[in-house]
Amino acid sequence: MTTQSFTVNPFEMNCYIYWDDDSKEGVIIDPGAYEDFEKDEITKYIKDNGISIKLILNTHGHIDHILGNDWAMKTFNVPLLMHKDDSPLIDNALEQGAMFQIQFPKPPSPDKFIDESDEIKFAGTTLKILHTPGHSPGSVSFVDEKEKVIFGGDTVFLGSIGRTDLWMGDINLLLDSINNKIFKYEDDYIIYPGHMEETSVGEEKVHNPFLNGEFGKYV
Ligand SMILES: [Zn+2]
Repeated sequence: MTTQSFTVNPFEMNCYIYWDDDSKEGVIIDPGAYEDFEKDEITKYIKDNGISIKLILNTHGHIDHILGNDWAMKTFNVPLLMHKDDSPLIDNALEQGAMFQIQFPKPPSPDKFIDESDEIKFAGTTLKILHTPGHSPGSVSFVDEKEKVIFGGDTVFLGSIGRTDLWMGDINLLLDSINNKIFKYEDDYIIYPGHMEETSVGEEKVHNPFLNGEFGKYV
């Protein structure tokens, strides 16, 4: 499997193309492309590598993660999946945009809502879905247990955690999601986050001050 990230839009959000080198099938995780050159760059990568995009996945419904949903759905003509608890964020996306002075057309509704009882399958790959709320109510993480990778959205970052001061954020839920779901995986699982560079479960368990007890009130 190959993981290619594109850091896009004014929020510097990581859009991922996760694809199988043999079958060339893949998914787009959080198509937050905003400018045309960002959309062109992602489209070119997909085309140059002969990738057949099967699904579009949203880790959550904040605007920086969904800005390119409309473009991706029209370009690749495949279903968009997200957790139902973030559908209010799709509904109020234009207000979210106004808060940050970003204008964009009303985003399309997801084709399917997913939760932990679902699995995402493409090529020979299975992605498990973890419901990891706290940053937003419907935040999910996608886990490939064969490859030991976690696409965590805005739950845990290199040395930091997702903010919880936005709509229905909840710090206790977030810490619970990280400690009891993401940290249940072994130390060598790679975490691909929604912002900043990749990290690992072991790295964050040991060095993340929000999670290792250094900032006492957070544990
Ligand atoms: Zn977010």
